[in-house]
Amino acid sequence: MQNIVDFIKQTFKTNDFIPLHEPRFIGNEKKYLNDCIDSTFVSSVGKYVDTFEEEFAKTVGSKYAIATVNGTAAIHISLLLAGVKRDDEVITQPLTFIATCNAISYIGAKPIFVDVDLDTMGLSPDFLQSFLETNCEIVNSTCRNKTSGKTIKACVPMHTFGHPCRIVEIKNICDKWNITLVEDAAESLGSYYKNKHTGTFGKLGAFSFNGNKIITSGGGGVIVTDDEALARKAKHITTTAKIPHPYEYVHDEIGYNYRLPNINAALLVAQLEQLDKFLEDKRDLTKQYEDFFYNLDITFIKEPENSKSNYWLQAVMLQDKKQRDEFLDFTNKNGVMTRPIWRLMNELEMFKDCQSAELKNAKYLEERVVNIPSSARV
Ligand SMILES: *Cc1c(COP(=O)(O)O)cnc(C)c1O
Repeated sequence: MQNIVDFIKQTFKTNDFIPLHEPRFIGNEKKYLNDCIDSTFVSSVGKYVDTFEEEFAKTVGSKYAIATVNGTAAIHISLLLAGVKRDDEVITQPLTFIATCNAISYIGAKPIFVDVDLDTMGLSPDFLQSFLETNCEIVNSTCRNKTSGKTIKACVPMHTFGHPCRIVEIKNICDKWNITLVEDAAESLGSYYKNKHTGTFGKLGAFSFNGNKIITSGGGGVIVTDDEALARKAKHITTTAKIPHPYEYVHDEIGYNYRLPNINAALLVAQLEQLDKFLEDKRDLTKQYEDFFYNLDITFIKEPENSKSNYWLQAVMLQDKKQRDEFLDFTNKNGVMTRPIWRLMNELEMFKDCQSAELKNAKYLEERVVNIPSSARV
């Protein structure tokens, strides 16, 4: 394993500690931040929020984009707008970051876990279909779970590490079962499935700009949709549901303070300008990893077929849990940060009683997949 550590240090041209993912600020960040400070508009209103929303919608090819304070808030609001209510159920994958399940829980709804595909590490359309056929029926145009008697209102697949899942196939199944599709595209800015940007297949899609994501605003998120009414509603309830008025404060429903401050948006506009460059650099790194791991007994994980991945986090698959643990131990002790994929959501205390289908693939991946340093390098 020394050869792997050596290769990574050589690739990142350093003997210092190598983190998993570092942000890079080499564009107009300081200029826009200064402009923001000089204008005194650092908070909830300002031109950078509007500019960002316009530019982001263009980038992913959606009609509307609504900035939010973080990605979790973007998922939370997307689910609310998808019509998820307390005691409803939402199908998702067990292999995801906790935010997906937290957002479902904020509404008082419950996740149901369905297995992933081995190649995409995202929700499997085949397992989704068999889960629905075995457990559900359509009653009064809603999908009813025969086991719990509850309504399955939405489905939230996630594009793991930027690798697109089979989102078209998933959408077709959701349509047939009257389940609203919401995409957790937090990790997949710059990723396409069949030439269409991830996050734009569902009724709503959510992205994150946390410090470790492909572009960052420190903290931030965005909701995308093609539905004008939903877009308007999203803007309204993420900004305290205030009725526009020059000086009076009147609010017409319970809203959320989920707006993205202008100062974060300024950073984000500068970052978005550099997205293509970041994507290119990630591809360069991918090529180097791919060549290096080619002859080893560790498999480098490549983008699935029919898709273009942003390769946000690079990942390898070890032979088994034992080799994985040795790999994690050796690399982290030697200044190269690596991290196992998430613990399955259904194994966590909060979600262990939620309904789960058989989760063979997720379990297989959980024991073997490890992220390796992935920063777009200067
Ligand atoms: C990063 C991330 C989010 C959102 O995270 P925030 O920190 O709230 O921006 C949601 N889902 C997944 C899968 C993520 O990786």
